[in-house]
Amino acid sequence: MLKEEKAVVVFSGGQDSTTCLLWALDRFAEVETVTFNYNQRHSREIDVAEKIAADFGVKHTVLDMSLLNQLAPNALTRSDIEIEQKEGEPPSTFVEGRNLLFLSFAAIQGKQHGARHIITGVCETDFSGYPDCRDAFVKSLNVTLNLAMDYEFVLHTPLMWLDKAETWKLADELHGLDYVRNNTLTCYNGILADGCGECPACILRHNGLQTYLQRKET
Ligand SMILES: [Zn+2]
Repeated sequence: MLKEEKAVVVFSGGQDSTTCLLWALDRFAEVETVTFNYNQRHSREIDVAEKIAADFGVKHTVLDMSLLNQLAPNALTRSDIEIEQKEGEPPSTFVEGRNLLFLSFAAIQGKQHGARHIITGVCETDFSGYPDCRDAFVKSLNVTLNLAMDYEFVLHTPLMWLDKAETWKLADELHGLDYVRNNTLTCYNGILADGCGECPACILRHNGLQTYLQRKET
């Protein structure tokens, strides 16, 4: 039944959302991607997302969310704010309410385009203190969106309970491990693929990949 339906993937061009794109392409008749421009530290993220969408032949929309930086200055958008995490606080890359806004805008666009399935790569396992990555939040928002727009949205979170190694495994099962490894951008320093190797995002990605490759061998 899903094979006949249309889906929107919230898409950043990183490992997680690209794995979600592969997951969606495997399940839905038609898939499109939406990327949010909120003056990310690296505008390269938008170009990478554009290229990946083109590689898979899916429609790609960039929505302007620059107001996020006006509302909540943070380390992802401001080069004068250091990327750091203090004990007991969310990391300085946290953008208050980001997933609430992204999923709401993706749903508005989805309804316009006849898509009720919205896919997001949020994950509670690596949750790092981001409250709007939690499963309870996504389920709650799903109900809210359905009431707000009188529509039967289904929010899908294929990575919700996976660790980084399991996310690599999923990409591999979808025949996309090499593609994801070589074409996605996760690094906070804006370096494609394996990245700078030193920032928290690179370390998480690298450790996950090594763990998965070791598990695969044994
Ligand atoms: Zn890096």
